[in-house]
Amino acid sequence: MKLNELNKLTQSLGKTTTMPVLFIGHGSPMNAIEENEFVAGFRNVAKEIPKPSAILCVSAHWETRGTFVTAMKNPPTIHDFGGFPKDLFEVQYPAPGSPELAKETKSLITKTQVGLDEKWGLDHGAWSVIKHLYPHADIPVIQMSIDYSQTPQHHYELAQEIKSLREKGVLIIGSGNMVHNLGMVAWKRLNENFGFDWAIEANEKMKKCILDGNHKDLINFRSQGKAFDLAIPTPEHYLPLLYSLALKGEKEPVSLFNDKMVAGSLTMTSVKIG
Ligand code: ZN
Repeated sequence: MKLNELNKLTQSLGKTTTMPVLFIGHGSPMNAIEENEFVAGFRNVAKEIPKPSAILCVSAHWETRGTFVTAMKNPPTIHDFGGFPKDLFEVQYPAPGSPELAKETKSLITKTQVGLDEKWGLDHGAWSVIKHLYPHADIPVIQMSIDYSQTPQHHYELAQEIKSLREKGVLIIGSGNMVHNLGMVAWKRLNENFGFDWAIEANEKMKKCILDGNHKDLINFRSQGKAFDLAIPTPEHYLPLLYSLALKGEKEPVSLFNDKMVAGSLTMTSVKIG
């Protein structure tokens, strides 16, 4: 075998053995049932990656004191929102859970004691996007919660401890929104790709840090000035990004998709690692 053929072979093997990691901007729960450019982006990215053996999702919508993973066999679909049409409340995403993956995740994490949860399920941060990635609901899904009492650095380091799951076919997804200020939504421009100046500034800086591998500034998001403070009034939609970035290998490629502003104060910008 020639050297360049060997290189090609190792490259393709590398691709199939290490699962990519995603950060997905989930936006409005209505994306679960609407057809738009963002859900097309979700579907497209699923086509670019090998079919996972299981999915572990860190969703902005599950904050707890302490870290938990869902460990039930059949996680219920949680409709954790109000004021939306009946159709949205009727959506079910009956993917199985994976008590085995929950236990394995718990065993990998040494930074904290991880609890096995039997009460949560799949919240809309998980199912409203995963249903577009894998519409047949045939891949087991577990969620990992975000401990609201911990620092960004803690979250980043905790995520690094589950890196080896990527070698076992597990697709790890952080689901949130990088820029997410609901208090400043321009309600009259809901369906426009419009962003306030500070939202554009924060989004541009976040993207540069992501593409440059400058995770330090992203972890220290509270020291990045006014645009970041407005983009991240509360950290729960931003922290899933740190979980995803923490899983990046040193030389792995990073790409962006769905990089659009919505309603002034939200971005759908999503990240694929690997
Ligand atoms: Zn959300």
